[in-house]
Amino acid sequence: MQRRNILVVGAGPVGTVAALACAQAGHAVTLLEAQNAIDASPRASTTQPPTLEIIARLGLIDEYMRVGLVARTFQFWDRPSLKRIAEFDFERLRGETEFPFVVQTEQHKLAHMGIERLRKLPNAEVHFGSRVSALEQDADRVVLRAGEREFVADYVIGADGGRSTVRKSLDIEFEGYTWPERFLVITTLFDFEAALGVSYRNYMADPQEWTNLFKVAGDDLKGRWRAVFNTRTDETDEEALSAAAVRARLARCHAPQADWVHLNLYNVHQRVAKHFRKGRVFLCGDAAHVNNPIGGLGLNSGIHEAWDLAQKLDVVLRGEDPTILDEYEARRRPLNIEYVQEQTIANKKRLEEREPAQRERRFQELREMADDPVRHKAFLMRASLLESTRRAIRN
Ligand SMILES: Cc1cc2nc3c(=O)[nH]c(=O)nc-3n(C[C@H](O)[C@H](O)[C@H](O)COP(=O)(O)OP(=O)(O)OC[C@H]3O[C@@H](n4cnc5c(N)ncnc54)[C@H](O)[C@@H]3O)c2cc1C
Repeated sequence: MQRRNILVVGAGPVGTVAALACAQAGHAVTLLEAQNAIDASPRASTTQPPTLEIIARLGLIDEYMRVGLVARTFQFWDRPSLKRIAEFDFERLRGETEFPFVVQTEQHKLAHMGIERLRKLPNAEVHFGSRVSALEQDADRVVLRAGEREFVADYVIGADGGRSTVRKSLDIEFEGYTWPERFLVITTLFDFEAALGVSYRNYMADPQEWTNLFKVAGDDLKGRWRAVFNTRTDETDEEALSAAAVRARLARCHAPQADWVHLNLYNVHQRVAKHFRKGRVFLCGDAAHVNNPIGGLGLNSGIHEAWDLAQKLDVVLRGEDPTILDEYEARRRPLNIEYVQEQTIANKKRLEEREPAQRERRFQELREMADDPVRHKAFLMRASLLESTRRAIRN
């Protein structure tokens, strides 16, 4: 059994970035993925500026932008009246980042790109169909079991998603709650930009049912839209996925004529692991935290963690300051709570507000923020995670 420097569990976008960053630094890395292929279900696409900076440092940015869509703005709408409330423009971040925009690239494309690069590196191995089932560690090493095989390493990165086996094996609590409603993602070729005059990223408030509407490139690069809706708490899966309910939802979003190519129903949580590290094992991405997708922050924060952790492991594996690893949880856990949990909960509340006066106040606040250059930029610094990235560097 060949001992590795780093074992990464889970070839989602976070595990793949972690593995690639560690391998590019010259360390012996093995990436273990339970499935036989990358999960291509429609999930994250919105890639914020600090994440684009990391993707650039990994050498993937040209390809990443080629297979995605650049979105400079996002908009808030009052859905029932189809009135635009406010628009925010990432161009206001010019000078703060090399990338004053987001790129809408589906997360499976990043995982594919990362794996392709890993396969070209002599110090990296990728094993699909390798579900990690058990973990043991002592002061010197970690042993993972996947099927009949055992893997040994100096360090392990658990990037195995929300139901993380690594987190459970470490007996780390996943603190937080699950929302009573679920989120339905309708993927459609209907052109919302042409029909409604919306941008590539839109948050549509409605006291009955909100919509988060955005455009992605698709694997064929021909473009498609994803409309995310909350379900009713008393709605069964069957009901929510029925053609009649899907058509009615599209009609309430002013697209009664739209057809769809894919449907997905998700449970949504706000949870943060009590610890991001135990001994030689670290949690990254959804294994460490989950949140509702409104605002496009979950995956972005996971990639920031993967990059940060890879830098720290590099320092330690080069024989320098081992105490640097203590900073990982101390820095990352509070940043996730303050920037990802708080913002996504606030984003959801803003869209679903029912009380008319409070609803109007929230709209007015958005209008005022969009009209004031200082507040506009400050809002974007937070919403893009640039502010949290700066905090991570300063701390
Ligand atoms: C509808 C929706 C829209 C979203 N939109 C956005 C967005 O725009 N921006 C954003 O930042 N975030 C968004 N998110 C969140 C984003 O999808 C997740 O944060 C992201 O998938 C986390 O990536 P990950 O690599 O940590 O985990 P995952 O993508 O879940 O990958 C985990 C991997 O680990 C593997 N695995 C699991 N168990 C094992 C095991 N025991 N052994 C080996 N492998 C294992 C799995 O097969 C999987 O491949 C969205 C989520 C949803 C549901």
